[in-house]
This record gives sequence, structure tokens and C-alpha cells, in this order.
Amino acid sequence: MTDWSGDIAIIGAGIVGLATARELQRRRPRARIAVVEKEDGIGRHQTGHNSGVLHSGLYYSPGSLKARTCVAGAAALARYCDERGIPLERCGKVIVARDDSELDPLHELYRRGVRNGVDGLAIVGPERLREIEPHVEGKSALYSAGTAIVDFGLVAASLADDVKGAGGAILTAHEVVAVSETSRTVAVETTWGDLEAGRVIACAGLQADRVAALTGSAREPAIVPFRGDYWLLPAQRRHLVRSLVYPVPDPRFPFLGVHFTRRLDGEVWLGPSAVPALAREGYRRGTIELRDGLDTLTYPGFWRLVSRHAAAGLGEMIRDASRRTLLRSLRTFVPELELSDLLPGPSGIRAQALARDGTLVEDFVVEHKGRVTHVRNAPSPAATSSLAIADLVADAVEVE
Ligand SMILES: Cc1cc2nc3c(=O)[nH]c(=O)nc-3n(C[C@H](O)[C@H](O)[C@H](O)COP(=O)(O)OP(=O)(O)OC[C@H]3O[C@@H](n4cnc5c(N)ncnc54)[C@H](O)[C@@H]3O)c2cc1C
Repeated sequence: MTDWSGDIAIIGAGIVGLATARELQRRRPRARIAVVEKEDGIGRHQTGHNSGVLHSGLYYSPGSLKARTCVAGAAALARYCDERGIPLERCGKVIVARDDSELDPLHELYRRGVRNGVDGLAIVGPERLREIEPHVEGKSALYSAGTAIVDFGLVAASLADDVKGAGGAILTAHEVVAVSETSRTVAVETTWGDLEAGRVIACAGLQADRVAALTGSAREPAIVPFRGDYWLLPAQRRHLVRSLVYPVPDPRFPFLGVHFTRRLDGEVWLGPSAVPALAREGYRRGTIELRDGLDTLTYPGFWRLVSRHAAAGLGEMIRDASRRTLLRSLRTFVPELELSDLLPGPSGIRAQALARDGTLVEDFVVEHKGRVTHVRNAPSPAATSSLAIADLVADAVEVE
């Protein structure tokens, strides 16, 4: 049984919680800091199940937290990887407009990227696109030379080493089950002993709404898990994609669309889809967790979202379930793709906050209440932004 007491307890050893612990430890070397994680190890959820893209920051509304922290976070993370010898490859990325209807949105993305301060952006024609990606077809593309790939799991492991090296504790297999605030401290009850801290910062990802509710905060916006399944190109077909190939995103959704992602080990992943899931942490297709399913299906915001986007949602579910339908849409980028090129791959689950009125919460949300801070909505690009989110949280905590 652990009985720990100290200055700051951080709930969740994903990349956001670990980056925050490291930043606070860096600013206050004498502070006693612990990261409390329910799994046996770190980075077991979103941090360990994603596309591994260090986004440049071009998608997000100028001035938003996503825009600011993504641009700053990508630069900080690249420097961090360089210092620590963590592999990072600036492979570049193209966002491809396939027909005339996508040209205006593509140019709008370019302008957004420039306003957000992203360097190295260019609109290119079909010939230049062919030079960058010889097997990809399109009318035009937005080329982001600085976009990189990285293994966020390795970054998280290094951040955890930093925390431990500076005297912090990482308490795995400690699920937080109750939190109560007194006038001077916060008592945190876990499945493996009790903790007492001057401050608590919750970075609980897929469980953010439940952990918020434990501390008496509103349950809303609720987390609705969106599953993303990937497919893999067979080794002999990986030459079809050199770097990162993305569609022009649908502005109604905060997801980037099914893309082609080169990984550091040379694999090429196709995906992820974006379909509502009935399990927050079930990575096998078809997994249902009763509590998770009920929470989603009884949330009015979910049904409002469904009624607003029924056609798009159904299309995405069909594409997720049918390899042939997915192939048809992927072939609009890479016409040489065959059905046999789509091998089943891993899955990830996004923690996306959804408001009661059915709106997908667009920006990151950080909420402060008394001695507890909640990172309530940190979906993509929060891995890219993690060091900048950590800065932001540390600034807020220090002001007090
Ligand atoms: C399919 C997919 C693709 C993505 N692609 C990219 C990408 O290419 N680039 C990018 O920047 N971002 C990407 N993202 C987003 C990115 O992975 C997340 O934004 C980021 O990992 C969030 O980190 P986190 O620490 O907030 O959450 P998590 O990594 O989910 O960590 C939260 C932690 O809290 C713990 N926890 C929860 N409840 C409790 C409790 N009660 N007690 C103790 N511990 C608890 C969990 O076990 C978990 O370890 C993607 C995400 C997905 C799902």
C-alpha cells in the first residue's frame, strides 16, 4: 500500500501528464511530485496508440489553444528529441485536393497555416506533387516540409525518466477512485493506497469526464470515444507512399480524415477511421464495455450529434467495416492500390469531448477549480502540443 504525501499529484501517465510533471519539477526542483497511473505502465492509451505525426499546426483556428500549443509544442518537442537522441524524421506531408471543389478549402488551409506561424508551407501543382509522392494523384496539394514523424511512446518514456531522475515518483497500478478537497490539501484515494497533495492536476484522457466528476466538477462536456482503425501496406508495397499523405479535412469534424502515414520503422499505416466506440479502452474491433456504452448512449449530446451528422457518420461506419469501400476512397489518392494491399492493423481510441448540445468541442479545454486542475479535452494534436500544454498548465498553477 502506498501512502504518499507531497506538493503535486498528477493523475494520468500519458504524454500530457508526464510532460506536465516534468515541467513542474523543472520549475520547482524541490517540489515533491507524483504521477498516479491506473495501468501497469505509462502511455498505455492514446499516447501509445496514434499516428505518430508531429503536426505543424496548420489546421487549427488562429489564436486557439490548439494552434498556439501545436506550433510551439512541435518546435519544443523536436528540440527535446534532438537533445535526448529520440528518433524524429522530418519526412514532410502533402494535403491533397483531388478535384476543383477542394481547391478553395486547400488554399484556406494554407492561409491558416501561415497565420498560425507555420514555416515551410507551399501550394504545389500536380507535377511537383508527383516528384514528392510519385504514386499519388491530385489537382493540387499543400506541402508542409516541416511535418515530422516520431514515436510518442518513446517520448513519454523519456519524460518519465526525467521526472524520476529529478526525484519525482511514478506510481503505476494506482487507479484514482476518489478525490476530496480540504482547505489546505487534496486527498486522493487510489486502489493501492491514499495520497495527499497540495494540488492535483488531472490529465486522464479517455476518463477525463469521470475523473472530473470525482472531484465534484461537472461531468460535461462528456468524453465520447471515437475509435480509429488502421490498415497496413504489405512490405513490398510500401514504396507507394514516401511520407505523409492527407485528404483535405471536412471542416465539420475535428478529425483529419483517413491518411497514409509512414512510420519510423518504415511501415505505412492507412487510417484511422473515426467511428463512435462502445468501449473507451477496448482496442479489439467490436469490444463493448457496458458502462462505456451506456454512458455514450444515454448522453443527449451523442444523439444530437448523430441526428446532425447521420449521413457522414454512416458513411464513415461503412468505410470502417468494408475494406472495398475504404479501398475506393483511398484509390482516389493512390490509384495503384489493390484490395490485397490493405492488411488489418492496430487501433486507437480518441478522447473527444462532446457538449450536451451535440457540438464536438473544438479546442483543448483546461479547467481550474480550487486546488484541482483538469485537462478535459486533449485529443489530437495534444501529443505534438504536450510540452506547450505542460507550460500552460505550469504557468496557471504557478500564478497562485
Ligand atoms: C488514433 C489516434 C491518432 C492520433 N494521432 C496523433 C498524431 O499523429 N499526432 C498527435 O499529436 N496526436 C495524435 N493523437 C492524439 C494524441 O495521441 C493524444 O492527444 C495524446 O496522446 C493525449 O495524451 P494524454 O496524456 O492526454 O492521454 P492518454 O495518453 O490517454 O493518457 C491518459 C492517462 O490517464 C490514465 N488514467 C485515466 N483515468 C485514471 C484514473 N482514474 N487513475 C489513474 N490514471 C488514470 C490512463 O490510464 C492514461 O494512461 C491521436 C490519437 C488517436 C487516438
